[in-house]
Amino acid sequence: MIDIQKNIPLAPLTTFKIGGPAKFFAEVKNETELLEALDFAKENKLEIFMLGGGSNILFSDKGFDGLVIRLLNTKYQILNTKIECDAGLQLSEVVKLAKENSLTGLEWAVGIPGTVGGAVRGNAGAFGGEMANNVESVRALEISGNRTNIVEYKKADCNFSYRNSFFKETPGMIVLSAKLKVTKGDKEAIEKRMQEIIKIRTEHQPKGFSSGSVFKNPIVENQELLERFAKDTGAKAKDDVIPAGWLIEEAGFKGKKIGGVMVSEKHANFFINDGTATAEDVIILAGIIKQKLREHYDVPIKEEIMYVGF
Ligand SMILES: Cc1cc2nc3c(=O)[nH]c(=O)nc-3n(C[C@H](O)[C@H](O)[C@H](O)COP(=O)(O)OP(=O)(O)OC[C@H]3O[C@@H](n4cnc5c(N)ncnc54)[C@H](O)[C@@H]3O)c2cc1C
Repeated sequence: MIDIQKNIPLAPLTTFKIGGPAKFFAEVKNETELLEALDFAKENKLEIFMLGGGSNILFSDKGFDGLVIRLLNTKYQILNTKIECDAGLQLSEVVKLAKENSLTGLEWAVGIPGTVGGAVRGNAGAFGGEMANNVESVRALEISGNRTNIVEYKKADCNFSYRNSFFKETPGMIVLSAKLKVTKGDKEAIEKRMQEIIKIRTEHQPKGFSSGSVFKNPIVENQELLERFAKDTGAKAKDDVIPAGWLIEEAGFKGKKIGGVMVSEKHANFFINDGTATAEDVIILAGIIKQKLREHYDVPIKEEIMYVGF
């Protein structure tokens, strides 16, 4: 029997440390427990929310008026150059396993918080890599009406694109596990690349309570802006995509504060919670930035983080 708890604060379960309580909350360690939690939600007509590492979400100050299910399945198996891992496993754990077993191809993911499930759903990516490059197949539970069904999706069916996937686009999909492909490599070279990435992350990303990049990097049509970006950074925008952080900095928002949340001085696409921020502070700050970028540069930007319970 799983323990369904009531009125559980969600802020500590996120990297942003913001948000109210979950009306109901359950931690599940395997598929049987997950089905039990889903039955509880069905019987009590509750909306569900799947929580991974809480590193890409903003819970509302009211919290979530349903059942939050935290998936804690963490089994894995390494078969030659394939890593089969449960969705509840931390991505950092998988990155470590790959390195320890001299398997290359996941170095890009070092330093990304959260779980395998969250990374698959959002097609997490960095330093030229993304989950789409590693995923061979994904097992997922599909909730449709009163029925649940477990399906194995081949990579082609996962519809990965920039920070997006079939699992994100389709309501009622719960990622259970993923089979990732890597190749045999040299442990020292893998370690070296990871150290390089960690160094860059430390130099360019702020410490503190955040949810990583708040906005997705937009495609920019404004030629003048593209030229300014190229001149300023010495790099041509690939496929006309400009980092949202550069645009936010260009618009003068570095250090801008609303209540307890501030645009980081180190990386303008990171908002930092000083420990007192509310979800409302974040929404207001994000809104001001979106409006200015749209009005002044004709660039609509969209959130990468998920707003939950609003
Ligand atoms: C300091 C910092 C740096 C970051 N750097 C990067 C980066 O370089 N690249 C990058 O892409 N992201 C980055 N992120 C964002 C975040 O770490 C990733 O998006 C991560 O993959 C989210 O995983 P999670 O388990 O924390 O998901 P959560 O935040 O818990 O959830 C995100 C969404 O996924 C859903 N979800 C979670 N688990 C499942 C599941 N098993 N099945 C179905 N849906 C599920 C949730 O319902 C929610 O909608 C960073 C975040 C921080 C705080």
